[in-house]
Amino acid sequence: MDCAKLFRVKPGSKVKLTDWDPSVTHGFKDKDAAKAELAENVDKLEHLQTMLYAEGRRSLLLVLQGMDTSGKDGTVRHVFSGLNPTGVEVTSFGKPTERELDHDFLWRIHARTPRRGMIGVFNRSHYEDVLVVRVANLQPKAVWSERYDQINDFETMLTENGTTILKCFLHISKDEQRTRLQERLKDPEKNWKFQPGDLAVRKQWDAYQAAYEDALGKCSTPHAPWHIIPANNKWFRNLAVSELLVQTLEAMKCELPKASAEVLKLKVE
Ligand code: AMP
Ligand code: MG
Repeated sequence: MDCAKLFRVKPGSKVKLTDWDPSVTHGFKDKDAAKAELAENVDKLEHLQTMLYAEGRRSLLLVLQGMDTSGKDGTVRHVFSGLNPTGVEVTSFGKPTERELDHDFLWRIHARTPRRGMIGVFNRSHYEDVLVVRVANLQPKAVWSERYDQINDFETMLTENGTTILKCFLHISKDEQRTRLQERLKDPEKNWKFQPGDLAVRKQWDAYQAAYEDALGKCSTPHAPWHIIPANNKWFRNLAVSELLVQTLEAMKCELPKASAEVLKLKVE
């Protein structure tokens, strides 16, 4: 399955989310059919991460966005399960603090970008500044509409400085969200995830989809592409994201640093 080809948003294109089926599974029948492949990807990732860490020259940033219950947390849990925690840094971005609001919107984001050798995962990100900020009217249009270009410039700068960027929008349907929100209310183990505000946000579903369409279309660039991941099936979502990570890390062709001639001459007595 070539996930880059299947799910990548063409730079400069206009996105219509209703054209993207959130339930497709591209030939995988069910969870069991995908199990072996996911396990294989998790194994590959472990090796690729070690190479990235050992090389120590570049980093990878995975940006995860999606509506409530789209599975941002679940993706992190499943896809990164086999990795060495030392090399992965997950940041969840919530409402900015007063102090953060006293800076430009990218200030808190830049502080959390992965250093050399690391994989950084953003659970929500600077894209909230053209999503919730736009839909909830937290800033006037004159402010948020400038941010698409600012984000593209920021991501270009990161890329030019050694960070490879991979962005995934976890795409679920409104029906699937209802099921998952109901689950959060019903299941005592999941109650804690339910926030009363989630229902108000759900009421603005269409406005959020429109905001996502703009963000995905305007900010999918050759160096920092967006992918629209069909996420109604959790197992397929995990498989697709893991596949993209493997593809991306393989393309980076990380190499182990060579020992210097002096080191090679040393003997351990
Ligand atoms: P959760 O991911 O469920 O923990 O919720 C995090 C909350 O923080 C969501 O309601 C986001 O919309 C909100 N949030 C994240 N970034 C921003 C931002 N830049 N401005 C306002 N709200 C934000
Ligand atoms: Mg939430």
